[in-house]
Amino acid sequence: MELSLLDLWGFGPSFALAYSSLPQPDLAPARVLSDLGSRLEVVTAASPARGAQLSGRLRHTLPSHQLPTVGDWVAIADPGDPAEPAIVHHVLPRRTQLVRRAAGRRDVEQVVAANVDTFFVVTSANRDANARRIERYLTAVWDSGAVPVVVVNKIDLYDAGELAGELAALAQIAPGVAIVPVSAHHGAGLDGLDAYLRPGHTIALVGSSGVGKSSLVNCLLGREQQAVQRIDDNDRGRHATTRRQLFALSTGGLVIDTPGMRSFGLLDTGGGLDETFADLAELATACRFRDCQHRGEPGCAIDAAIDAGELDPARRDGLHKLERELAAADRRRDPALAREERARSKAINKSLRARTKVDPKLQR
Ligand code: GDP
Ligand code: ZN
Repeated sequence: MELSLLDLWGFGPSFALAYSSLPQPDLAPARVLSDLGSRLEVVTAASPARGAQLSGRLRHTLPSHQLPTVGDWVAIADPGDPAEPAIVHHVLPRRTQLVRRAAGRRDVEQVVAANVDTFFVVTSANRDANARRIERYLTAVWDSGAVPVVVVNKIDLYDAGELAGELAALAQIAPGVAIVPVSAHHGAGLDGLDAYLRPGHTIALVGSSGVGKSSLVNCLLGREQQAVQRIDDNDRGRHATTRRQLFALSTGGLVIDTPGMRSFGLLDTGGGLDETFADLAELATACRFRDCQHRGEPGCAIDAAIDAGELDPARRDGLHKLERELAAADRRRDPALAREERARSKAINKSLRARTKVDPKLQR
């Protein structure tokens, strides 16, 4: 009984296992619904929403990217009194994490959302037919360990011919990725998303500003849930911030809303680029040199495909552009953090990629 309620929030066998191996027996599992700096809101088997805060030990020992964030599973000590914050003693290892890099002299890495199963990479009919941008989002999602689905919003602005053309173009950019056309305004095509909105399954949305992410979330929630504009106390009311939050839908599906997450610097710790450009990786197996960079080397199969008119050169250029961006980001990383990330991603992504690229749970 207790477990089935948690399973509705995505607990499941793998987190149950991680939880059961914790040293302290008197804790309870909880999932982070939102984080407001040092204060968290969590859901537990006993309470749909209660306040929590980090133990002193965690506050002082956890590096910033391991601090609990929206979507994380944690182990808490509950004082019983709901007015008292529960104390977080452990953060369970994440199954997936979308990391955002804020560029600077020393890059800051922030985990935007933890334990998302499927990311909707939202694009829109009229504004965002930008292949390079979609490649960028796909790389970040594959790298997180989650599975992407491309959602083409605003199809009400298309006629049938235009839509067919757009979907064909997207299939080239996102090989092996499910593509779902919808209209948040008209409700068209939303049943194509139902398979991802089932109990215990966590989704989140990424995509450029204006493509209709908030409108889609509102549709999914079935009510107006405008991104809450909050006044940041620390900033004399000058700054309006938005809050990242985990919601349960009436279908049982779980949505992490990340309003205001317009863009993020890329990191590639787990081979997200290889997944995004799986078509090029396949072609490259026929390049003469194993380490061919596809920059005019003799016997390059990618150049040959371009010369034969079988491959859009913009696709190769997209790969080169992201490679440069990732190499630059890598040079600014903290080396210890980078090592730790690689080890984690390798383990996760190996198991994910051993299966097909279609959401594995949908195939049962
Ligand atoms: P976000 O920045 O990605 O969260 O995008 P919003 O949800 O704020 O939507 C941006 C604009 O696109 C708004 O003016 C919406 O009304 C409009 N929009 C959203 N979905 C649709 C749709 O399905 N069709 C059309 N025509 N407009 C839409
Ligand atoms: Zn080559």
